[in-house]
Amino acid sequence: MRVPFAIASAILAILSIGYLFGASTKEDQPAPVPAAAKPSTVAPLPMPEIETEAEPDVFPLARLNPITGPDRPPLPDDEHGPHGSRRTTGTYEVALTFDDGPDPRWTPEVLDLLRQHRVKATFCVVGMMVQEFPHLVREIASEGHTLCNHSWGHDTRLGTRAYSAILDDMKRTNDAIRAAAPGTRVSYFRHPGGAWTDTAVGAARSLGMSSLHWTVDPRDWGRPGARAIAAEVNQSTIPGAIVLLHDGGGDRRGTTEALRSILPNLAARYPLVALPPGVDPPRRHGFDLPIHLGQR
Ligand SMILES: [Zn+2]
Repeated sequence: MRVPFAIASAILAILSIGYLFGASTKEDQPAPVPAAAKPSTVAPLPMPEIETEAEPDVFPLARLNPITGPDRPPLPDDEHGPHGSRRTTGTYEVALTFDDGPDPRWTPEVLDLLRQHRVKATFCVVGMMVQEFPHLVREIASEGHTLCNHSWGHDTRLGTRAYSAILDDMKRTNDAIRAAAPGTRVSYFRHPGGAWTDTAVGAARSLGMSSLHWTVDPRDWGRPGARAIAAEVNQSTIPGAIVLLHDGGGDRRGTTEALRSILPNLAARYPLVALPPGVDPPRRHGFDLPIHLGQR
């Protein structure tokens, strides 16, 4: 009985090698993460030569042209983010994001520091806090920062609830943001605790919102101290990174203190941007708008 078993094992092994080899070609495709650092001063790359039959390689252009913006659809999915959420900006630009506010003690301090360093950022706000402190949301918007929906009550299990319940939560939060700062576009959703599910990402997409994950997480909510927060962010930030920080949800002294190091450090190395506000309502890619090279 040993011989047939050995033959069967050999056949299985050959089949698995073939499968792995076939699968590996797929993984060899260029990742959308702009790993190759492109300093902002570098002139735009020449247009790639596109053969009529071959599929165009959109990545070099996507790195140089913002793939969303006032007349463009929300950011496309990023295959590297959990459940189809977005983990990078899609360009070489770096985005600072602040969660769990607005907070009357910490949000004004963060806004002040951003103003001093002429940096724009993205604020993922909690609906209940928006309702309580609408003037802070107005201030965030009026200073040119982008707003992002961080759910109504920071329910970390939101994504496991019924689709209709998730939609209601998201809409209620968007309504509160728009009531606080009329005319605001809400093109991003960040799940509380990053506990993404396919349902939550799908619900956000149906409301025209990109699901916003992150690249760099210094876990500042755990209050590791300003020095640790700054070190982690300054060392781990790569081109295209989305940096997760907090301006609410507890004592944020460590975060605000760390920003005094993070802001000048990162600003000297990367363009620091507010994520593009997108369109509201979102236009349909290739239907309401022509498809641009660099979009997918
Ligand atoms: Zn949060």
